[in-house]
This record gives sequence, C-alpha cells and structure tokens, in this order.
Amino acid sequence: MLDVIVDLDQTIYPFVNVLEAYCIERHINYDFDMTKYDFFSPGWSRRRFVDVCSKAVKDGVLYQEGIYPESLDFMNNLKSMGCKIHIVTHREFVSTQVSKLATLNWLSDYEIPYDSLVLTGDKGSVKADMAIDDNPKYCQDMINAGTDAWVLAHPYNTESKLNKVESLQGFANIVELQIIAKNLVA
Ligand SMILES: [Mg+2]
Repeated sequence: MLDVIVDLDQTIYPFVNVLEAYCIERHINYDFDMTKYDFFSPGWSRRRFVDVCSKAVKDGVLYQEGIYPESLDFMNNLKSMGCKIHIVTHREFVSTQVSKLATLNWLSDYEIPYDSLVLTGDKGSVKADMAIDDNPKYCQDMINAGTDAWVLAHPYNTESKLNKVESLQGFANIVELQIIAKNLVA
C-alpha cells in the first residue's frame, strides 16, 4: 500500500476559478490576471488578499464550492488502487479551525475519499511515499523529507525543474507503475 499526499488548492480544488467568480459576483475590484496565481505583483496588498479570501470563506464560497471536473475520478482511482490518501493543505483564512471545517464540509459534500486531512505549511512534516502539489517549493520540501513529490503543471510553475505531470491522470499512472514495481519486488 502506498501513502500518497494530495494537495488541495490548484491541485484538486480550483482556488483561482472560485475566487475570481466570487469577486465578479460581489463586485470586488481586481485589475490583474488571477490565473497567474500571483495576487501581489501587480495586485492587491497582502492585507487585501487575506480580507477578500477570508470573506469568501465566511460566505460559504471559498473552500466550499467548486471542484475540477477530473478531481473526483482521480481520488476514487487512487483509492481503488489501495492508496492511503493524505490531504495536506496550507489553509488558514479566518483561522485554521474555520478553514478546516470548511474543507471537511467540502470533502463530505463532494464525497471525496481520503484517509487524513492535515492543515500545515510544513509539507515535509507528513510522511508519505508519493505526493502531488502545484507548488514547487512544497514539492521540494516533501522531496527533502524523502517523498517522491510531483509538480502538477500550471502556466505559473513551468520554470520548475522538478518532476512534473501534466494532469491528475498522469500522476495516477505513475502511482500505478509504482505499485506494480513494488509488488514485483515483494
Ligand atoms: Mg496548491
């Protein structure tokens, strides 16, 4: 059995899509390209970013509405391969507790299978065999901790030299090969 870490925001949860739709609906001004996943240069102040996101969480939108079309199949696929799924996410808007509750509700509403949920910015602190995350820094932290971490490709992380997959399915294929290899050795 493989222990697999799965990130949420921009991996199985469309953070930017949800936040952008929220801003448009609530007439919250922004004059930068959110899809670059950089809210600050140019963009909002840190304070403004935290305020908008916290309000979106309190309004039951951010972390609670929305999912990528392929996410549920991907998670079910990992589960059917016998993986132990650890969701590890750096979420702390409003408070870690509020973010955690919103996340638990989302996982339950969308019937997403998982074995543990950890909210932390220290992604190297969770032990696992493999991981997928859109943030190269977090991937590096997990690699340093001995985890075979893969970057999910987005236009904003093309410069990373770390191992990359173009899709969730691409990562699932690598997990499957890993399981086959493990069984051959056993
Ligand atoms: Mg992420």
